[in-house]
Amino acid sequence: VTRKNIVEIRNLGMGQFGQVILARTVGVHLMGLQQTESHTDPNGGTLVAIKKLKQNAENGLVEAFDKEVKFMSRLKHDNVVRLLGVCTEGESFIMMEYMENGDLNQFLQKQKVMPDTISGLKENEVTPIILLYMGVQIASGMHYLSSRRFVHRDLATRNCLVGRDFVVKISDFGMSRSLYESAYYRVQGTLILPIRWMACETFYGKFSVKSDSWAFGVSMWEIYTLGKVDPYEEMTDEEVIADAIRGPDRKLLPRPDLCPQKVYDIMLRCWAHDPLVRASFGEAYS
Ligand code: ADP
Ligand code: MG
Repeated sequence: VTRKNIVEIRNLGMGQFGQVILARTVGVHLMGLQQTESHTDPNGGTLVAIKKLKQNAENGLVEAFDKEVKFMSRLKHDNVVRLLGVCTEGESFIMMEYMENGDLNQFLQKQKVMPDTISGLKENEVTPIILLYMGVQIASGMHYLSSRRFVHRDLATRNCLVGRDFVVKISDFGMSRSLYESAYYRVQGTLILPIRWMACETFYGKFSVKSDSWAFGVSMWEIYTLGKVDPYEEMTDEEVIADAIRGPDRKLLPRPDLCPQKVYDIMLRCWAHDPLVRASFGEAYS
């Protein structure tokens, strides 16, 4: 696709790598989107989210980005955000499916939890079953990604997007990985890492499908606390790091009030110190 294929509508948010913009397509047929999911507008275009890459990317980064995009274009799962197109001419951008309820963290913060027995939910109302449903979708998407040997490295509710009817899809995969080596976690030589989502071994550089499991447990915890508090909010960054690298005795997040014991047991299995005994996404999903 090129610039000519999109008409910008409005800003959706500011990402670490540049702006995210809602746009309408012009004269392109998006084969990737199922008709029921697409947001076709009266003019025949489709609503999409455009993620621009900042101009100052070096050559190596652009190559890594291209490689990543090729991989992303092969991903196809109901709980993974679809990449719909890429523009590499001039100002580079990628085109993704538009998720109208934004990121899961912001979405959760707006919600009020109602009892499961309620009939007819109003806007911004969820029930415990819906919270579980959203978590299951993340497990499902991650199960798919892990089966492709894909390691996300930054799974968190802020990196999941919400569509209609509480559909949740994993996002920021690929981007966070290709940029991991450069801009995202390293700012002027200082290491910036999602420390509150990180398993012990990742502090020593060992990212794997199993460290994603750990982050999945934290993401579930975020869902049941409605994104209202940061994990280990009472601890400073330095304390979190010092505690995390202590190993098996590290402090684990408490069971949120809304979280059933059975679900908390899954979280605890995601937080096993030994990556080998830690729950896999297949197990978490089933
Ligand atoms: P980055 O990971 O580069 O920092 P994000 O992907 O988190 O950027 O995007 C920033 C914000 O833009 C998100 O928090 C979300 O609110 C919005 N956004 C991103 N992608 C989409 C999308 N496909 N549909 C709707 N909103 C989106
Ligand atoms: Mg993000």
